[in-house]
Amino acid sequence: MEFKFSMTTEVHFGEGVILKNKDLFRSLGSKALIVTGRRSAKINGSYDDVKKALDEVNIDYVLFDEVEENPSLETIEKGSDIGKKHNVDFVIGIGGGSPMDAAKAIAVFIKNPEINKDNIFGSGKLESIPVVAVPTTSGTGSEVTQHSIVTVNKEKTKKNLGQRVFPKYAFIDCRYTNDLPYDITVNTAIDAFTHLVEGYLNTNSTFMSDIYGEKGFELFKYCFEKLLNKDFSPEFRERVMLASVMGGMQIAQTGTSLPHGMGYPLTYFKGLHHGLANGVLTIEYLKTFKNRTKINRMLNILGLSDLGELEKIFNSLINIKLDITMDEINEYSRSIIANKGKLKNHPEEVEFEDIVRIYSKSLLEK
Ligand code: NAP
Ligand code: ZN
Repeated sequence: MEFKFSMTTEVHFGEGVILKNKDLFRSLGSKALIVTGRRSAKINGSYDDVKKALDEVNIDYVLFDEVEENPSLETIEKGSDIGKKHNVDFVIGIGGGSPMDAAKAIAVFIKNPEINKDNIFGSGKLESIPVVAVPTTSGTGSEVTQHSIVTVNKEKTKKNLGQRVFPKYAFIDCRYTNDLPYDITVNTAIDAFTHLVEGYLNTNSTFMSDIYGEKGFELFKYCFEKLLNKDFSPEFRERVMLASVMGGMQIAQTGTSLPHGMGYPLTYFKGLHHGLANGVLTIEYLKTFKNRTKINRMLNILGLSDLGELEKIFNSLINIKLDITMDEINEYSRSIIANKGKLKNHPEEVEFEDIVRIYSKSLLEK
């Protein structure tokens, strides 16, 4: 057996972890840039905890609270300009995947002042200043991945920044997710599940990454039941967060696969939330597999007898009617076939017609 396993983020999980570990901030410098979305961090307690911790260890900070969903390179440039102007030593990303991913990209831009939105791709491997991540959704696992997914308006798509920015610390306190509305809870949970699936059924999967996948499916056996019953207790919040962290640790090793690549145009052109964009394609993607060994193992852990049972769960949780034409499906399919990086993560041969079929059956025949 041969594998590489790398997960350099120090994870602190539990109630009150930010204040309990406030001294860790001292090792990162004397001034922080806090990166958030527009509203939620100020309401769910996460921003207050970070401010209190920084105040108690005498670390100065500036706030950049303009990160939109699916952060654009324009926003990242704006945030990094503020960081550079204030000479910050590190970046704290608080929020869902969008602010955490933006924080990672901003940390790269601050460390490399010659980098901007027009030359970031093709710039080779870059360092970043340290990043701390505080998740407030249970979905992306960005707090434990090296990935930063950004919207590239020039290319009309979302892309991985292509740099390895593992947060130095992840502070995970599920209380910040207690008041997540139903739709964001479902959409982000579906995202976590798709990470587990795409990481598990991945060319790059290993003995080690599969441990996270299988543990994540075990957690989802419980989480699906609670999601279907809309029973969002603190215990559910904890387990779905753990599943999201497992998914993150897994895709940090494997990367994602077809549904993520195919979902990006659905988000960019149709405004579909990231989790739904992957989720709506997942069942048809699973049906394309010729070798079902691992799919059957996954279903067994989930306590499901066949793919039809998983499809019923997805149909109950996801209800999407997209206005999409066959021409658009062909165009998106062409760009996936051109995305060799994503295709090579899929362990079986895949043709243009297969991609068109997944899109069509998922989006036109519902
Ligand atoms: P998000 O885009 O970060 O946030 C979605 C919405 O949820 C925003 O309106 C946000 O409000 C709100 N929100 C966040 N936390 C909340 C809370 N505790 N209570 C109430 N509302 C809250 O959503 P996400 O699904 O977590 O992240 C999606 C992004 O992550 C996509 O860009 C995706 O490509 C990326 N992603 C990254 C990775 C990775 O490995 N790096 C993996 C998967 C996905 P505010 O704007 O006010 O905060
Ligand atoms: Zn995702």
